[in-house]
Amino acid sequence: MAERVVIEARWDPILGDWVLVSNVREFRPWRPRGCPFCPGSPETGWGWRVLVIENAFPMLVPNPPTGPRSDFPFISVPGRGRCFVVVETPRHDVDDLSDLSASDLADVLETLQILFEELSKDPAIVYALWFRNKGEEVGVSLTHPHSQVYALPFIPNKVLREMRNCYRFWARSGRCLLCEVRDRELEAGERVVCRTRFFAAFVPFWAKWPFEIHVHPLRHLESLRYASREELEDLARCLRAVLQGLRRVFGKPMPYVAVLHEPPLRGSYPWFHTHLEIYGMYRVSGRLKYAGGSETGGGVFTYDSTPEVAAKMLRSALEVPDHGSEDKR
Ligand code: ZN
Ligand code: ZN
Ligand code: FE
Repeated sequence: MAERVVIEARWDPILGDWVLVSNVREFRPWRPRGCPFCPGSPETGWGWRVLVIENAFPMLVPNPPTGPRSDFPFISVPGRGRCFVVVETPRHDVDDLSDLSASDLADVLETLQILFEELSKDPAIVYALWFRNKGEEVGVSLTHPHSQVYALPFIPNKVLREMRNCYRFWARSGRCLLCEVRDRELEAGERVVCRTRFFAAFVPFWAKWPFEIHVHPLRHLESLRYASREELEDLARCLRAVLQGLRRVFGKPMPYVAVLHEPPLRGSYPWFHTHLEIYGMYRVSGRLKYAGGSETGGGVFTYDSTPEVAAKMLRSALEVPDHGSEDKR
């Protein structure tokens, strides 16, 4: 056991990215009994449909105990921020977001809009990262439907890389690279999974995970915060279809990671727009894809089928009924 509480972000000057370090878990005993996210638990109380609570084991806190450090190459900043859990429904037995009605799912998205708006007023917080882990294979122990938001004091590295390349493309062509990619994917068609009134989902040409799906707005919608209720409900429909597809492909729940790539909380980014990325982790063979030596060690993903085949499988999966869900819409 460590001697003191450490909650900080350490800087890797070799790769140029941040690592969140928090040992709060070592200082807080795990509460053994019952689901902490069910209505009526000490954390959740009663009378809600979507609930945002603070993570019991945060990687970031509003007032971190650790100070900054800057004796090169040992650079760190206090882990100042917030870690939230979004409890997406009071119902414990729901398997996935696609089991919620489009309207209930839109309420979850609206809750994110409100949270992001609130966080944008805190000068210590630069970025809000929403993500969702699904399935034991990706380390989910609490099955009550929930996702998380990390309110970070920096822009996460992957988003920063996207923003850099989007900015370069925009400076050269005056076009948003994400709009360009979306339009070309829709034109090509073979990797498109589904299209709703305001959104489109496709497996990108350069997909890294076997069932990697990107969901883009059809207009250049800079941030989810600026989406209308009508757009949120449409996004909910698109998302439900995609997640139903993931479940139907192999007739069993597919482990996935979903993440929202928003622009930073403050500032204007005409060259970047919000999009969702979902990484379905079963290979075309139905077996789990691991990030192995090439991926983890070299950053080189290997794809042992083609994104075109994965997209086709998802499209046909969408044509059969989803028995795991109750289609309210
Ligand atoms: Zn529960
Ligand atoms: Zn765009
Ligand atoms: Fe992205």
